[in-house]
Amino acid sequence: MQLLASYLAGSWSSGSGSRTQLVNPATEEALAEVSNGGHDLAGAFAHAREVGGRELAQMSFAQRGALLASLAKAIHGAREDLIALAVANGGNTRSDAKFDIDGGAVTLSHYAELGTKLGAASSLADGEPIQVGRTARMGGQHVWARRRGVAVHINAFNFPAWGTCEKLACAILAGMPVISKPATATALVAHRLAQLFEPLLPKGVLQMLIGPAGSMLDNVAAGDVIAFTGGSSTARSLRTHAKIIEHGVRLNIEADSLNAAILGPDIELSSEAGQLFLVDVVRDMTQKTGQKCTAIRRVLVPEARFGEVCDAMKERLSSLVVGDPSREEVRMGPVATAAQRDDVRAGIARLADVTDSVYGGTGDVTPVGVPGGKGFFVGPVVRSTKSPMDCAPLNSHEVFGPVSTVAPYSGDAAFAAAFIARSEGCLVSSAYSDDRDWVQSFVTAAAPWAGRLYLGSSKMASQSPGPGTVLPSLLHGGPGRAGGGEELGGERGMHLYMQRCALEGDASVLKSLLG
Ligand code: NAP
Repeated sequence: MQLLASYLAGSWSSGSGSRTQLVNPATEEALAEVSNGGHDLAGAFAHAREVGGRELAQMSFAQRGALLASLAKAIHGAREDLIALAVANGGNTRSDAKFDIDGGAVTLSHYAELGTKLGAASSLADGEPIQVGRTARMGGQHVWARRRGVAVHINAFNFPAWGTCEKLACAILAGMPVISKPATATALVAHRLAQLFEPLLPKGVLQMLIGPAGSMLDNVAAGDVIAFTGGSSTARSLRTHAKIIEHGVRLNIEADSLNAAILGPDIELSSEAGQLFLVDVVRDMTQKTGQKCTAIRRVLVPEARFGEVCDAMKERLSSLVVGDPSREEVRMGPVATAAQRDDVRAGIARLADVTDSVYGGTGDVTPVGVPGGKGFFVGPVVRSTKSPMDCAPLNSHEVFGPVSTVAPYSGDAAFAAAFIARSEGCLVSSAYSDDRDWVQSFVTAAAPWAGRLYLGSSKMASQSPGPGTVLPSLLHGGPGRAGGGEELGGERGMHLYMQRCALEGDASVLKSLLG
């Protein structure tokens, strides 16, 4: 069986000791193995600091952007190969796989273009010059400068391509060398990316650890940055990690999120905005089998539309074919691992104690094209509650699968915003309304609780990517439960990997420093 090697300190390392198997989650067939340890991680950090950092320091933003453009091109060239790996190892349908892989390439291209735009500069201005003295001679200017440490990237299992690319695009453009660690269970795609990227990048700019983190974080030092995406319990262990605390290492966390979709009181379900709402809600339940951090978990609809929305969701879900994602007719595959399936089942059971079934009961399903009893399958499940604010599991526990809960409300914008706030911070939530006063009241009260608010309406319905699509030009991250992190958002995404420094002195010197 193939043993996936890590790319560390300029060479491929197979590790040693015990191994973990990567499987096809539809058939449970073993696909590859990874070593659980035996890598020289201290050497990898030294290599990043001494070799990768030096290489990037000598490059302009435009040159780093050109590197990112070459990575995007490599993904395009190996697209079919990557899709096949995502279908086999991630339980992705072809469409799910493209969402991840093309998302990665698009993000790299976005930052490649930004690099071209930033050109030959070595630091970035933050705002305009400020007069801080009696005359204009004495000035102040904030700048973003390149940090000297290592960017450590830890990614979740659900987006092995996009997660890897979105993080490395920002870090490399900002000038930090990267050590990337994909989730073990779905590492085949990330491993292939490392193989594709390795010949295109200067030594030390990108290293990849395939397999468990082990003692990796014991090697962090002052100036390093950790960008983590994953579950809240892992995030907690990172927040209290002795080395991270000791060295004041910058830690960005993207964690759980109980995203909501709100149908405004003015929207008929048959209208363009109403249909957009329905498409978004059902797509988010089923795309990647609901394993998206941005997926809609909680749905609020005006009382008068509650029955209609439930019926429409039932109708759409009843034609969904669940099974082996390598089959053309299948629209939803399994969840990624046996542990995920058990977590999702447990989450549905918690919801089932306090909610009613609208569709799918507790997720039992007979998958198409799968040998009896095999695979980590959960069918789509819609639950409902008449008390959305008081339904504790709905507002405190992320079920990371094809599960959503619908609830009626009066149509009051303040209640809708309070419902967003009830989950204590989310990555994205959406509201569908053509009533600008309603939208204004909602946004004012909901914005502090969300990293992104998606405002569906009849005017934008025909060109909407949906709330579940993370765009490189807009912020990704959210307050509170969602981790408090910030990634992407164009140039903002580079700031995690740079140091903001206030320069104070002769205004003409400050101006010359920025070129
Ligand atoms: P996870 O179990 O927390 O794992 C995430 C990553 O952390 C994996 O690479 C994992 O490696 C690694 N890890 C585990 N323990 C570690 C440690 N002690 N030190 C360093 N790294 C460690 O999460 P998951 O099951 O992969 O992902 C599902 C969760 O991610 C969901 O809760 C979802 O909401 C969240 N998520 C959030 C976002 C977002 O942008 N906010 C995006 C996607 C997913 P191994 O795989 O080797 O254990």
